[in-house]
Amino acid sequence: MLITDCHIHIQPIEMFKPAALELMKKKRANFDQVLEFCRSPKTFLQHMDSIGLDRAVLINYVAPDLMGFTSQVNQFITNYVKEDPKRLIPCGSVHPRHSNNVQRDMEEILRMGIRMIKIHPPHQLLYPNDYLNGVKELGVIYRVAEANGIPVMIHTGTSIFPGARNKYGNPIYVDDVAVDFPNLKILLAHGGRPLWMAEAFFLVRRHPNVFLDISGIPPKTLLKSFSRLEEIAHKTLFGTDWPGPGVPEIATNLNDFRALNISDAAKQTILSKTALGIWPE
Ligand SMILES: [Zn+2]
Repeated sequence: MLITDCHIHIQPIEMFKPAALELMKKKRANFDQVLEFCRSPKTFLQHMDSIGLDRAVLINYVAPDLMGFTSQVNQFITNYVKEDPKRLIPCGSVHPRHSNNVQRDMEEILRMGIRMIKIHPPHQLLYPNDYLNGVKELGVIYRVAEANGIPVMIHTGTSIFPGARNKYGNPIYVDDVAVDFPNLKILLAHGGRPLWMAEAFFLVRRHPNVFLDISGIPPKTLLKSFSRLEEIAHKTLFGTDWPGPGVPEIATNLNDFRALNISDAAKQTILSKTALGIWPE
């Protein structure tokens, strides 16, 4: 069984704005390890081996105002994964308001090998459906991803990074995206945690093209929020959001997930099969 963590932040640390970096450091005891993994894919792959993780989707997104991340994150992550493209899957982004030509930039990062697009509404300061409210570029991002069979991950739920605006985190605005782009695979990161998990569950059941990424939800509380998890196992992906503030180590997350009171078949689907359907080997 090939295990995928669909949500790990391997990022160019030097780009972080001081306030965001301070929060990361404060919330993680062993920050030197994060620095080392972000610098060296070899070391990170060894760590994956040591904890029994086969593949990692490496999340990056453009959010210059809040986080300091420019479009250079795409180059960073496509270089990083060259160490082992089978095990390291690059996720990148184009910011609708920080690109002169969204269509061209999208096509360019797909040519570079980006295999998922991240939208982070509370950090990019827009609603997921703002293409209906004048942000036409957002619609172009979805259209190009859909046409190329590339999934889009949308952050849902709150964020505690300085400057994050949490009104944008409600997953209900993804409903429009799922309707308007029926062939686009959409991953709801964090399942609306902690305020809007019922909305997230509804969307996953309602739309064939909407999936749940459980990262950032402590596995121990997962069944409290998603008591009917087994029903949507075929559309659910294991993820951790490591090394985000407050997120336990990846191995701890894996152990806690394996200890859940659901069937082995459902666990296998969430740890392995759903992700293989999205990013085949
Ligand atoms: Zn994340």
